[in-house]
Amino acid sequence: MNPKRPLSRVGQKLAGHSGIVELMADLGEATSGPDAASLYMMGGGTPAHIPTMQKVWRDRLAEIIADSDACDRMLTNYDGPAGNPAFLKAVSQCFYRFYGWDLGPENIAVTTGGQSAFFTLFTLLAGSNAKSEMRRILLPLVPEYIGYADQGLEESVFVSRRPLIERFGDREFKYRIDFDQLNISPDTAALCVSRPTNPSGNVLTDSEMTRLRTLARKNDVPLIVDHAYGAPFPNAVFTDIQPIWDPGIILTFSLSKVGLPGTRTGIVVAHEEIIARLTSVTSIIGLANNNIGQAIALPLIESGKLIELSNTIVKPFYQEKSNHAQAVILEEFRDDFPYAIHRNEGAFFLWLWFPELPISTRELYERLKKRRLLIIPGEYFFYGLDSPWDHSRQCIRITYSQSEETVREGIRILASELRSLHIR
Ligand code: PLP
Repeated sequence: MNPKRPLSRVGQKLAGHSGIVELMADLGEATSGPDAASLYMMGGGTPAHIPTMQKVWRDRLAEIIADSDACDRMLTNYDGPAGNPAFLKAVSQCFYRFYGWDLGPENIAVTTGGQSAFFTLFTLLAGSNAKSEMRRILLPLVPEYIGYADQGLEESVFVSRRPLIERFGDREFKYRIDFDQLNISPDTAALCVSRPTNPSGNVLTDSEMTRLRTLARKNDVPLIVDHAYGAPFPNAVFTDIQPIWDPGIILTFSLSKVGLPGTRTGIVVAHEEIIARLTSVTSIIGLANNNIGQAIALPLIESGKLIELSNTIVKPFYQEKSNHAQAVILEEFRDDFPYAIHRNEGAFFLWLWFPELPISTRELYERLKKRRLLIIPGEYFFYGLDSPWDHSRQCIRITYSQSEETVREGIRILASELRSLHIR
């Protein structure tokens, strides 16, 4: 067999080069490659190893192992494709308790991480319909999560809109949805936002969310809201906001950013019809999901402890990391070149804008990689626009979830490289 034989069209799309493939390769190299110890990893979205949270996971595993029935149930059963019934019930009751959402287990499905929830949702909703009419996911604002960009089984599944940029002095800015440009057309399959937004750390305001919900409802399209970093877990949200759900909204959650990315556990909350379809796809693609994350988290969700830990440990941890990284930037960048930071309202990243950068951020990425620093070039986050935008070549994402030493040294290397470009 010729291993290089031509692939199918879908095969070429899924197995070709993409931002997320590059990002995950960098991540693997930085965590377990031969040079891992000498790399400054400011690229991927791996959560920090927070000692209190790690102890919680270890204690839960010890409890499970000590209970042979529970351990056998976790390891030796396929659960149904929607997830473990006790887990689905606990999640629906937790959201009822905290937010008053009228949900039952039929409104919840577990997936292999939030990532595969998105693959399934986009594949179900977008692409050619039975009349061969193309339907697309509308991103009300880019930059938006790099991990959506190559999803969907057809080309050009996304359309997106530029945001308005609000400036706060020379050094800070914030994106806002430009509702004047957000026209929904018959080819709109769904609206989708991450809240907080990866990469910018933007948190859409309650009033922006209300307007999106109204627009979606008026046009009878679903509004997908990605809570990977959001409330109520891990609640890496530094502004005061209220999550929303109604049967027209599809919410996704994940156990990854609260500290369990290795368990690959995503949670979708939606109308039962959507859940039923998503569950069918799970059966076809993977039979069932991983049980381990659900087993670890179940009593913590039932008791409200996961939300308490998110509020008292996880959120303050990232808020402090964010403040530290911003202070280091101030010290290291000085006034040596023009830059601005997106107002950091949540998630694990700083989004930096260099309005006079003379090279693309892909080139900056290559230069920094030679100096053992990994960042994410901003270009990848601006997919679906109908015209080029200079701003998309002027921004980078850095994570602050690593150790203070890594963050400080990484920012020092970045500053030194930017200085060498003689921006002014
Ligand atoms: N959504 C956003 C915004 C993310 O940043 C990520 C991961 O980084 C995901 C979804 C998917 O995460 P997971 O599949 O680990 O739940």
